[in-house]
Order: sequence, then structure tokens, then C-alpha cells
Amino acid sequence: MEAASEGLTLVWFREDLRVHDHAALTAARADGHVIAVWVRESRDDDGLGPRPLGGACRWWVHESLSVLEEELSHLGIPLLFAAGESATIIPELAGRLDVDAVRWSRRYAPASRSLDGRIKTELRNRGLTVHSHPGALLVEPWTAAPQGGDHYKVFTPFWKAVSGGDVGDVLPVPVEQPRLSTGLIDSAQACAAVTDLDGLGLLDGTGTGSGVFAAADGPRWWQDTISRHWTPGLRGAAAALEDLHAGIDGYSTAHDIPADGASTSRLSPRLRHGELSPRQLLRAAQTAEGITVDDRTSWIRQLYWREFSWHLAYHHPDIDAWPIRPEFNDFPYDDDEGALRSWQSGQTGYPLVDAGMTQLWETGWMHNRVRMVTASFLTKNLLHHWRHGEQWFWDTLVDADEANNPVSWQWVAGSGADAAPFFRVFNPERQRKRFDPDDAYIDEWLSETTDAETSPIVDLADSRHAALDAYDQMKSTE
Ligand code: FAD
Repeated sequence: MEAASEGLTLVWFREDLRVHDHAALTAARADGHVIAVWVRESRDDDGLGPRPLGGACRWWVHESLSVLEEELSHLGIPLLFAAGESATIIPELAGRLDVDAVRWSRRYAPASRSLDGRIKTELRNRGLTVHSHPGALLVEPWTAAPQGGDHYKVFTPFWKAVSGGDVGDVLPVPVEQPRLSTGLIDSAQACAAVTDLDGLGLLDGTGTGSGVFAAADGPRWWQDTISRHWTPGLRGAAAALEDLHAGIDGYSTAHDIPADGASTSRLSPRLRHGELSPRQLLRAAQTAEGITVDDRTSWIRQLYWREFSWHLAYHHPDIDAWPIRPEFNDFPYDDDEGALRSWQSGQTGYPLVDAGMTQLWETGWMHNRVRMVTASFLTKNLLHHWRHGEQWFWDTLVDADEANNPVSWQWVAGSGADAAPFFRVFNPERQRKRFDPDDAYIDEWLSETTDAETSPIVDLADSRHAALDAYDQMKSTE
């Protein structure tokens, strides 16, 4: 039996590539039948919309969508794909499908929120019901504010204020629906922007077109290397969740050791693409058995660092382009192209930096401690603008995220809200002795010849002094 199209809702999937704990999907199924869509969005003429995906994320999303399509089809829900401006595509599809309602999970970057607001108004003007639902965050950014201020600028007070809140229960996977009529799908396919998964072109080309990507290593297909390290999609996510215990056990003492594969959870791409919800992870961490209070608390605290990044990104439009502390607009960066290339390609002559950049290139992921060291090296020892490093990470990380990436870069570079003091210049050699004393991490990512053949591109002491001088120069222009 085919279902009629009464009570039909279009669920617009974005950064929520899952079928469980999905409030929009659950509400849509409660109302009747569902048809789903994912759009490869281009920013509109006003610059509204999400930041175009970097190369590694495009690979991840392609793979994850193919699994989502299958999972939704088990529920009787067709997933359409389209490419172009969502402000045109979503209303057109809603009209062609003659849906009663459109639902989606909220996103929080200002340029995306403005676009979503516009689309919501357009759909309502056409007489449709439109709902946006929470799901990507534990704390809606506008619900937390300190006394006398509009948002938190420091993590600890934010964490103290929000971490005890009730986040509600994890929602189950909705029940299967009867198959929708093929005529309905045909009418959607008449929309010029509708295509199939391959037609989205997520695997074509290299980076985001920033130029910086192609500069380092020529054309490259992400799927060749990164795919050896990850299984995107819901089944891979379920397996990663099963391993959560290993990621949290010992976390308070081991999380800074990059060599130990299990010293952190490696769930960041799952959160980034919404294959797992933060609520689901919080609940799993709270109820995991045989975990010490210290391990549990320190891991959950990191989950709230992600919340804090989104809190800042929500309140600071263009956080990937402009420093939160405006005095950093006057910072005298050096921006030597050759030095940037050496950093990107892991040829600085400092083994911890080079191992980190190699891990990033090979796997699309880098351990947090090494992210801090490599970012400090670029922005302070090489005096490069943090934007260049942020862009490189944006193109190469499978977890590259519109909040965590720019906020973390600004934190390291000293221009962020709750930033590390500028004089905190990580010494990559001391960091190596402290966190990789047996060279286990370095041996994993650098061959002996690479290590021995590359001589240091800067002197650590001299470049540290130069960075502090540059900082003083900036302060003197205030
Ligand atoms: P775990 O240690 O197991 O932590 C669990 C989760 O908490 C993570 O998956 C992540 O969602 C969150 N989390 C952990 N540490 C942080 C942190 N310092 N800040 C914010 N959230 C955190 N994280 C991203 O998700 N996307 C990025 O694009 C990104 N870019 C970064 C760039 C730089 C320069 C630096 C220093 C850090 C960046 N981070 C980013 C934060 C952090 O490095 C990663 O979230 C973490 O390494 C992911 O590994 P994990 O899942 O094993 O984390």
C-alpha cells in the first residue's frame, strides 16, 4: 500500500545526519509522513548560508549521506539531494511536493541563522507551518548570559552556569512509514536543483577553492587516504559510541598524550556532522560504568568547550575572519608564503609539529595537544595570521567546524575572548619531551629520513622574541 500525501512534512537535513535523537524528524513523523532533503548549499549574494565545506568534510559528508539515505529508506523515508541556494530550493520543493510543513534542526552560525530566518518567513508567507528544533547543542546560545552582559566571554563561569541543566531524554528512532507514492518523488525531481548523491559533486576537486589547499600538494582525492582511518555514517557512529568507555577511562590523566589512540574519544567528526547528538553523548558519559568521577567530569567539561565555542560563534559574526579582541587587527604578522608551505606539509624541522601536520594530512584529524602546538608554532614562531592556519585546518579536518575551529585558533593566537596569554608560546621541543617522551607519536607519523633530513626553519628562542616584540608593537598602537 502506498501512502497518500496528507500530513506530509519536508524535513531538511543539514548538520544532523542521524535518525535517532532528531527532534525535527520525530515531530514530523508524529504529524504524518515525511520526505527528507539535504542541500549542498551555496552562499547567496548577501553572503548568507553555511561556510562552504572544506575538502575533508566534503568526503565525510558524501559518505555519511550515503548511509543516511539507506537508514532513512529502512524507515520508508526518501532522501532527496539538491545543490544550489537553499532559499530558492526549499520553498520550491515544498511547493512541488505540496507539503503541509517544513522542519529542520537549528544551526547557530549567524550567517546560517539569518538565511534560515529568511526561508522561514518565505515558507510561512506561502501558508506553510515551519518549525526549527534544537539538537546540535546542549545549550541554546541565547539562553545563557552573565549578569549585566549579553554573553559569556570566559569558559569557567559559562560551564558553571549551564552544565547542571536538564537536557531531556534521547529520542528513539521513529517508526517506519508506509512507502510514499512514486509520483510524489517524480514531482520533486522536476525541480532543476534536485540531483543524486554523486551529482552533488562532493568528491570533485580538492579544497574549498581558497587556493591555499592546492598550493601545498597539488590535486588530491581525500577518499584515498582518510578513508583508511574512518567509517562515516550511522553504523560507524554507533561503533564509535560503543568505544566511548575507552575514550573516557583515564581521560583526566591521559588526554594530553597524542600517541595513545584511546586517550581521547575521537568523536569530534560525529558531533560535527551530527551523526551523534551531544545529548546522547552526555547521557552516555553520565551513565558509563566503571569510570572515575575525575575522568567523567573532565570529559564532559570538554563537551561543554564545544558548547562555549558555539556560544561565542553565535555572538560574534564572521568569527573566522575577524579577531574577537579588535586590537589584533593591528598585529604585525609576517605571512611568509614559504614558511606557510613548510608548516602545511610538515617540514618545519620540529618533529612534534611535523608529525602533527602529517597526521592531519593522512587522517583528517589531529590530537588536541598537537593542534595547540602546531597552531602556536604557525601564529607565533612563524608570525603567520591565524586565519591561514584556520583555513588550512578547515580544508583538512574531518571535524572542521564553524565554531570550534576559529575559536580555538583565536584562543591559541591570543585574539580570542578567553584566550591563552600571548606570551604563552608553546615550545615544540619541550612539549615533545613532556607529552611524547618515548617518541611514540613522532615515530608513528614521521619516517626516520624525513625527521633527520629537515633542518629547523626557525630558531625557537629568536622567533619567540620576535613574536613578543610584535605583540609589544601591536600594544603600542592601541
Ligand atoms: P575528546 O577529547 O574526546 O572530547 C570530546 C568532545 O569534546 C570532542 O569531540 C569535541 O567535540 C569537544 N572538545 C574537546 N576538546 C575541545 C576543545 N578544546 N574545544 C572545543 N571542543 C572540544 N574541534 C572540532 O570539533 N572542530 C575543529 O575544527 C577544531 N579545530 C581546532 C583547532 C585548533 C587550533 C585547536 C587547538 C583545537 C581545535 N578543536 C576542534 C578542538 C579539539 O582539538 C577537538 O575537538 C578534539 O581534538 C577532538 O578530539 P576528540 O573527539 O577525541 O575529543
